[in-house]
Amino acid sequence: MIEIDGSFGEGGGQILRTSLSLSALTGQPFRLTRIRAGRPRPGLMRQHLTAVEAAAAICGAETSGAAVGSDALTFAPSAVRGGNYRFAIGSAGSTTLVLQTVLLPLLLRAGEASRLVIEGGTHNPYAPPFDFIEKVYLPLLRRMGAPVGATLERHGFYPAGGGRLRVTIAPVPKLSALELVARGACLERHAVALSSAVRPSVGRDEAEQVARLLGWPDSCAQSRQVQSPGPGNVAFAWVRHEQLDELFTAFGGPGVSREAVAQRAADQMRRYLETGAVAGPYLADQLLVPLALAGSGRFRTLAPTAHTATNIEMIKRFLPVAFRVSEACGDTVEIEVQS
Ligand code: ATP
Repeated sequence: MIEIDGSFGEGGGQILRTSLSLSALTGQPFRLTRIRAGRPRPGLMRQHLTAVEAAAAICGAETSGAAVGSDALTFAPSAVRGGNYRFAIGSAGSTTLVLQTVLLPLLLRAGEASRLVIEGGTHNPYAPPFDFIEKVYLPLLRRMGAPVGATLERHGFYPAGGGRLRVTIAPVPKLSALELVARGACLERHAVALSSAVRPSVGRDEAEQVARLLGWPDSCAQSRQVQSPGPGNVAFAWVRHEQLDELFTAFGGPGVSREAVAQRAADQMRRYLETGAVAGPYLADQLLVPLALAGSGRFRTLAPTAHTATNIEMIKRFLPVAFRVSEACGDTVEIEVQS
């Protein structure tokens, strides 16, 4: 039984999700205490509990402490089974974080294909928006040999949620290594705003301002109204390079001006483009588990975030891998996984 203190490092939900994924993948049971002790409202929240239930469902795990508010969890996995699954978070909790919890076990350990429906929030602050999963994360997994597809059936903005993802996963025995040390030439640039039940001028202004702030032509800007159970507004700056896409997001909401939303999305993209990082800071923490499972790979990124540092420590609890973080040119570092 692997004992994990959930207060270490970042002390957030990533410790739980990485433990669930790697426990299902390796068959090692774990006990996690002081869950999310680093957060203002510690313990399992609804979306974390759905991640526990989803992970338990795909690998027939026995659990104790799986309840909202619980600050300790025991998880004892059995074999991973593919098939059809539906996970409903029942709030605006992030569907993409639940997907990331179960995706790699279903990909690498199930003997059959899987089809998932996940309902909840698809565009939440502090989680990958669906567009990031679709344009940035999954294409890289596919390059590592993973036949995974995802479609967004309905947008679900925080706080109402009510969105729906559909995901197909065909199993593979192993992931191949991934090297991201240069972005390659820039192929496309997009400044996008999506809105539900928000005046069309808001998204239009945001998209145009993101493009203007980045010095991109007006033709890069596009805004769209989408159907969602609740109101919502998000802007993102998205670039396609030869080696990968990157996408940075900012959310609108009550009391947040369209100028502030555009500025936040553009600032993140400008910093990324100026530094020569290949993986942005969010992608960096999300690449660690796939690369560790591949047993090899490296990428250039910005100085490791607390999320990245915490995830590295978590992965080493379950897998016999080492990470080397070395300084690269400019403000960047190279993170290398070795088994
Ligand atoms: P808590 O920390 O409150 O427990 P949590 O369960 O949502 O919350 P975190 O530990 O904060 O979990 O992890 C959030 C994850 O979402 C990280 O992997 C991070 O990279 C990712 N993420 C957050 N914001 C973005 C974004 N704008 N784009 C892409 N990924 C994001």
